[in-house]
Amino acid sequence: MAVKLVNVFETIMYEYAKLIADRAIEERETVAPAARESKDYWSFVWHTFRKLCDGKITTSAVLRENKLLVAAGNRCAYCGATELLQWEHIVPTSRNGPNTIDNMVLSCSKCNREKAARNPIEWYNAKKLHRKHIPRLVMGKLLKVVLEEHRRRGTDSASDYPEGEGLHLYNVCLVFDHAVPRSQSPSAA
Ligand SMILES: [Zn+2]
Repeated sequence: MAVKLVNVFETIMYEYAKLIADRAIEERETVAPAARESKDYWSFVWHTFRKLCDGKITTSAVLRENKLLVAAGNRCAYCGATELLQWEHIVPTSRNGPNTIDNMVLSCSKCNREKAARNPIEWYNAKKLHRKHIPRLVMGKLLKVVLEEHRRRGTDSASDYPEGEGLHLYNVCLVFDHAVPRSQSPSAA
């Protein structure tokens, strides 16, 4: 069924709904790609999406689960390797990504080097891999920091982002690359 997304918030919630369905319907492990093919899957996504938008459920379940994944062991969040791990910024700090634990995962040095100054969506696109290959833990965290930044800027209710560009998760996740509008910067208040 076609889903009409009306703003940035819904664009992010739709992606969260897929993460929830990946676990609930497909029992997806964190690093393995999701399949996202069955009718049941998409039906579950739709209902979950509506509940997220209506506030009947929250994203905290995903995020709580992510905490467990982090606690579960020292593994690269991208490939599962256990050697040469380092903390990696999901949205690079060189592109204004926050220096907080929400924006960080453990990564092996190979993945960290290969990803370089890209966010996970850009990196997987460059590898010609669909977004459903991005590990659950990484995607859950990316969505969280991106939504928080849109809320901070008041662009979570924008009906396209950036203005005139429609609603694409790819663009929505580039929020940190855009200057904070003058009218919303603290100095203008
Ligand atoms: Zn790795």
